[in-house]
Amino acid sequence: MAIVYIGIGSNLGDRHKNCLMAIALLRQNGLLVTKQSSMYETEPWGVAEQPAFVNMAVEIDTELAPMMLLCLLKKIEKAMGRQEALRWGPRIADLDILLYNDITLNTDALTIPHPLIHEREFVLKPLSEIAKDFVHPVLKKRIGDLMSKESKLRKMGYQVVPI
Ligand code: ADP
Ligand code: MG
Repeated sequence: MAIVYIGIGSNLGDRHKNCLMAIALLRQNGLLVTKQSSMYETEPWGVAEQPAFVNMAVEIDTELAPMMLLCLLKKIEKAMGRQEALRWGPRIADLDILLYNDITLNTDALTIPHPLIHEREFVLKPLSEIAKDFVHPVLKKRIGDLMSKESKLRKMGYQVVPI
């Protein structure tokens, strides 16, 4: 079994519900969701003229190889109505593989660890809630130590359904 961290983001429609739906679909597709972070509201990144995102992270246990897992995540994004569109543009659901055991991988389709983990606070913050002691296989630092102290991220009052 591999321990994998997945980042979930949404900035269209009912963003809170979309994140919960993404988790439900991960489960329905046979992935064991073992941890969930809080949800955070974050200003858009990359393309500024768009609604704020809700971001969170989950830990899963899976036997799927990285590429198979990416295909499944894309299938879930599509099932949730995500259109092929602008990179970093508005989306109902964005599911990214952040970490996959201590694997490092760099192909056109897939880079693991996700290259922007340490640059995007909206990825690091929820991730550090559930993977504080996980050592980033490239940076060789604990996820908890990659976080900057003065965080501006706003935690949502949303209820994250317990696992
Ligand atoms: P982003 O997540 O960077 O905002 P997209 O969701 O549109 O943008 O992803 C674009 C492409 O990034 C995907 O089609 C996928 O092939 C590729 N990709 C590379 N590494 C990863 C990863 N670790 N997780 C998810 N997608 C990835
Ligand atoms: Mg993505």
